[in-house]
Amino acid sequence: EVGSPLPVLGDDVRVPLAGGGTAPYAALDYAASAPALRAVWDDVAAYAPYYGSVHRGTGHLSQLSTELFETARATVAEFLGARDGDQVVFTRSTTDSLNLLAAALPADTRVFVFETEHHAALLPWRRAGGGVQHLATPASPERAVAVLDAALAAHRRQRPHAPALVCVTGASNVTGELWPVRELVEAAHRHGARLVLDAAQLAPHRAVSLRELGADWVALSGHKLYAPFGAGVLAGRADWLDAAEPYLAGGGATATVRRGTAEDHPDADQVGDLAVRWHRGPARHEAGSPNVIGAYALASACRALAAAGLEELTRREEALLRRLRAGLAAVPEVRVLSLFGDDAPRVGVLSFTVRGWDSRRLAVALSERYGIGVRDGLFCAHPLVGALLGDQPGEPAPCAVPDSGGAETALRAVRVSFGAGTPVEHVDRLVRAVA
Ligand code: PMP
Repeated sequence: EVGSPLPVLGDDVRVPLAGGGTAPYAALDYAASAPALRAVWDDVAAYAPYYGSVHRGTGHLSQLSTELFETARATVAEFLGARDGDQVVFTRSTTDSLNLLAAALPADTRVFVFETEHHAALLPWRRAGGGVQHLATPASPERAVAVLDAALAAHRRQRPHAPALVCVTGASNVTGELWPVRELVEAAHRHGARLVLDAAQLAPHRAVSLRELGADWVALSGHKLYAPFGAGVLAGRADWLDAAEPYLAGGGATATVRRGTAEDHPDADQVGDLAVRWHRGPARHEAGSPNVIGAYALASACRALAAAGLEELTRREEALLRRLRAGLAAVPEVRVLSLFGDDAPRVGVLSFTVRGWDSRRLAVALSERYGIGVRDGLFCAHPLVGALLGDQPGEPAPCAVPDSGGAETALRAVRVSFGAGTPVEHVDRLVRAVA
């Protein structure tokens, strides 16, 4: 019923068990970093002999690398449904992408972000000129839209001309739940605000299209998208990016650097005795030698996912998720965390607690006794996990959990996450182990 997984690195690795012997490693921590697709690895290996510096060298391999690097940019643009005029900036990660955008905000921009977001989406805006407004934890997707709508309407009334940016995560890295991105974009645009989508968890599981969602920017990480070479992307509208100071100052971002004053050189920035004109376009924010392999691998992963068909991957993942949910539902001590209710659609990410078990102890036991790799803790989303576990104020969480087992249990959960390379056996083993 579920169908075969895509081949990934590590799918033949065995790990030692505490009781002796070994087991095939069950990687159920895709939400942290997904294993590389073997197709991506092979592609990178085929390119590696031709690897060279980009943009500067005149040698054949430099030229080839430049072409492959820029083709990678075009591939990512297509994968993300970029519109005419959208830019694709290569970064290190989603965290880096959102910090880049935070550094490019026009003066006085006010940023709106749900307090339940991943820290990478929650915290980069701390220096926003117009301040950061944290929106209360919503108990349903409809509430999320209504809360945002009201906050933006109030902002418009108070400061009709100040720019506003909304940052929203497409799929939660804690509950896996999908957020109503299209509706949130509409709400933002209704009030003249812009929206950046944190697609770190969404893009590996669902098609993400700037054109279809209408989002102004999207950020993602290659290492969660089956391309583990330290590259990420910020894609979207060019105007704020082209008007901003370069995120990194250095070689590659500069059009001209001359002695003299900005008065002698129109459009130039004064840096000491030098008048500096920065590039527009992605190069403006990509100073220094870029991560060519990372960009190449990221584009390769986009091609591989498109070839496999994201709809097909989603269908398979949903079958795995049903199996996992049914298995865990049969264990009365298990409580699955959810913000929007049990039936809310989600990607292959699920967190739970087990009554009487400390989450760390459980996660370690899964590893040592069953060869299963999961994650436990607060998942870089402390306010969200706090709200879900009932220790923080906010709107009432429909699934406030912990029963017994003491404070330790109450403050942490175990997260299982999977994707294109996950065989049914990994999910079944996890359920058996928990039971
Ligand atoms: N946003 C979400 C929803 C995430 O899950 C993560 C990674 N856990 C990030 C942002 C940050 O990604 P990275 O660590 O690759 O910068």
